[in-house]
Amino acid sequence: MDFHVHLDNSTIDKVLELSRERRIKFGIVDHAGTKENQYPTLLSNDAELRRYLAMLEGKPVFKGVQAEWTDWMSCFSTAALAQLDYVLTDAMTFPGKDGKRVKLWTPDVAQQVDMSDKQAFMDRFVDWHVEVMTREPFDILANTTWLPAGMLEEWELYWTPPRMKKVIDAALKYGIALEISSSYKLPKLPFLKLAKAAGAKFSFGSNGRYPNMGKLDYSFEMAKQLDLKAADMFAPAPDGQKAVQRRKL
Ligand SMILES: [Zn+2]
Repeated sequence: MDFHVHLDNSTIDKVLELSRERRIKFGIVDHAGTKENQYPTLLSNDAELRRYLAMLEGKPVFKGVQAEWTDWMSCFSTAALAQLDYVLTDAMTFPGKDGKRVKLWTPDVAQQVDMSDKQAFMDRFVDWHVEVMTREPFDILANTTWLPAGMLEEWELYWTPPRMKKVIDAALKYGIALEISSSYKLPKLPFLKLAKAAGAKFSFGSNGRYPNMGKLDYSFEMAKQLDLKAADMFAPAPDGQKAVQRRKL
């Protein structure tokens, strides 16, 4: 199953053709949050969320959203969010010098976020992962252990075992699954081994736009190396136990 599929430049029917071809079940995640977030498609209120759910109704996919920033919960009622199978988010949008949201993958990020001391930034970035998991009711942490350009190349230097442990502990505490991302080929094995030993759950994600959904080579390779079983994998929670229902915020 690929729980991280974007419809952006395609349609549900075209994406379903690929699902059948690749024999992978997809979880569709449109972006969700306030209008301040800029994406090709964005769900910002109950009415838009319900239209999206209706569009996916009866299709052989899981219905998810990729939640944006820390204020997405304010856009929707719990009842509407509970119609989803799951909520996925990541820690890649980070508070800038003025406290406003900054996408850490944008080219001018150094002007907006103090990254002059990369180890000090990394400590703040790890704390940010924990804060996101503490504050937001979601089910899957996507793009786990991603790093901005200039740091990604030296992943091992920044993702030290104590930092890994902070993120893994928070995931366990809040019942959040950790995505093994085939688009970023992350997390690397040392993180995954630590997470598995701690009892974390995992999901596979391509972060795919058409026609790249369902390409899960890295996820499968890691699953093989870790000897992951069905019990180690994320599955959408039954009604009443979804993160948006379990966690009162
Ligand atoms: Zn995504």
